[in-house]
Amino acid sequence: MAIVWPCPLPVDAYVAAGREVEVPRPVCPSCAGPLVFWSGYWRHVRAAGRCRKIFVPRVRCGPCRVSHALLPAFVLAWRLDVAEAVGAVIGQVAGGACGVRPAAARAGVPHTTARGWVRRFGARAGELGVAFAALAVDLGGEAVRPPAEAGRFALTAIGAAFDAAAGLPGWLRLGAWRFASSVSGGRLIAANTTSPWLIVGSRRFMPPIPPLPA
Ligand SMILES: [Zn+2]
Repeated sequence: MAIVWPCPLPVDAYVAAGREVEVPRPVCPSCAGPLVFWSGYWRHVRAAGRCRKIFVPRVRCGPCRVSHALLPAFVLAWRLDVAEAVGAVIGQVAGGACGVRPAAARAGVPHTTARGWVRRFGARAGELGVAFAALAVDLGGEAVRPPAEAGRFALTAIGAAFDAAAGLPGWLRLGAWRFASSVSGGRLIAANTTSPWLIVGSRRFMPPIPPLPA
């Protein structure tokens, strides 16, 4: 299982930190007990058309005997490209600004990849719209009226939730798509979503706390 933390670092800075990257230590999502750092792994991420290697720390809960990967919010689960690239394509295409090919070209990704994101987002748009609209209200933001089209509803709701969150300390600098990745546990456009809104529903999304002192 993965926990997405609201990482504000530029990808370059995260890459440069290597294994020494400083991440906050969350509490166990199951028992709220303390987690201890427990090794980690390397994975690739593509940002601005370039593949980079990042270190993903793991934390472990002793009593639950479960370990969790701590993913930075610029990563989406099982996706190579950063959340901002995915979000830019989805925003342009689902928002009706342009088709998949020009959006993919601007993001520097194959158009087949971009088309996959847009399809997946479209398939989940109704569910995403409802969840983010509820989160926006939870955070004290505006109620979102569902537009006729599901994709636009989801985009509007993500924007409204982010606007509301941006009023709380630390969230504004993340940007809308890292925010969306954080509160969906990285599963914004994941195929298999068993309980993606666990964190939203219980309002337990992690605040962007500064890294613990070493
Ligand atoms: Zn636990």
